[in-house]
Amino acid sequence: MEYQNSLSFAKQLDDQDELKDFRSQFYLPLQKNGETHVYLCGNSLGLQPKTTEAAIRQELLDWKNLGVEGHFHAKNPWLPYHEFLTEAMAKVVGAKPKEVIVMNTLTVNLHMMMISFYRPDSKRNKIVIESDAFPSDRYAAESQIRLHGFDPKECLIELTARPGEVCLRAEDIQKVIETQGSEIALIMMGNTNYYTGQYFDMKQITQWGHAQGCFVGFDCAHGAGNLPLDLHNSGCDFAVWCNYKYLNAGPGGMGGAFVHERHHTDASIPRLEGWWGHNKETRFKMRDAFEAIPSAEAWQLSNPPIMAMVAVWSSLKIFNAAGMDRLRKKAIALTGFMEYLVHSLGDDVIHIITPSDPEQRGSQLSIQVKNADKSLFNQITEKGVIADWREPDVIRVAPVPLYNSFEDAYKFYSILKEALHEKG
Ligand SMILES: *Cc1c(COP(=O)(O)O)cnc(C)c1O
Repeated sequence: MEYQNSLSFAKQLDDQDELKDFRSQFYLPLQKNGETHVYLCGNSLGLQPKTTEAAIRQELLDWKNLGVEGHFHAKNPWLPYHEFLTEAMAKVVGAKPKEVIVMNTLTVNLHMMMISFYRPDSKRNKIVIESDAFPSDRYAAESQIRLHGFDPKECLIELTARPGEVCLRAEDIQKVIETQGSEIALIMMGNTNYYTGQYFDMKQITQWGHAQGCFVGFDCAHGAGNLPLDLHNSGCDFAVWCNYKYLNAGPGGMGGAFVHERHHTDASIPRLEGWWGHNKETRFKMRDAFEAIPSAEAWQLSNPPIMAMVAVWSSLKIFNAAGMDRLRKKAIALTGFMEYLVHSLGDDVIHIITPSDPEQRGSQLSIQVKNADKSLFNQITEKGVIADWREPDVIRVAPVPLYNSFEDAYKFYSILKEALHEKG
């Protein structure tokens, strides 16, 4: 697309945007002067859908009026409640419904999956992660290694960018897998790196890993609701994600997990188990031996927190109405527009570390500002932008196609430009 550097052009793109009405389905945080913030933090905490509050009230009302009977007679009965979300969740991440389950939170799910897919022995005991993996993922991997009596110093392989580069090269990932494959038990990467915004080819990495006999799983915290993930066809063994970033399920909202169907009835895959993974027909007989549901539900431990699930469901309904294909199409245009504007500030001032190839990124730009410190970030915050600062010099912005406009992108650019001028 040919972009133009003007507010009127941004407004013209908004007029033509077939998803423009979705913005009004969300609450945009307000500044003190009553204007909306330029909210670019949907990769950190998505905004509140206007439907969520009423949906939570409905469950409070049913609990109030029905007590325990709500499990069967609530408007949305609690007993099968998690099943209402399955199909919509599966569409967002590109899986078969039986391969996904909304449960727990991300790091908990990561541990649950590693119990099943990281089973080191004396020969094959290593985990591959990115060197700049999100801290929680690293802590989870290291503690799993120690749990099995191994030493993270020896068993954690970190994928590192080449000197002077920030993003990983596919051929370097391939080389690590091919040269050390026989010692690697699990490859566990963010499918979209939280810091650089780099998106990895999951199918390709899975093929490399499987060829060496490794299990392959992805942390899709920054991918779910951002990119069309196609988890089933990627062939990966498992994936986990949170639903509160691009997926707008609220602070600390529930996470999700994907387990490829090939593992559902495989008795050689161990698992931590609880009653909500047991055959639904006999769950309440309570005395039977565990009988796994032949789906990702087998990994579900507890009866789920309905109040938290409500918020996931509200958001998934909006996602399904918008459709991942249309969201992706707008995301490419919107991120591209913002990139074009930011580039016009001059390569001597800014450097975008996120890949410039749209196929290698979603709705995020990580902008490195030369000689900047946090005062620049504080300035743009003051002027109404909500974004994210990573030491020492990176501003992360996420123009989210569901509720961000092309005008938001333009406003961000104008404010950044103004702040840079004031900085001199
Ligand atoms: C946001 C994020 C987390 C957060 O984990 P929680 O268990 O939801 O607190 C973990 N890993 C990655 C890659 C993330 O982006």
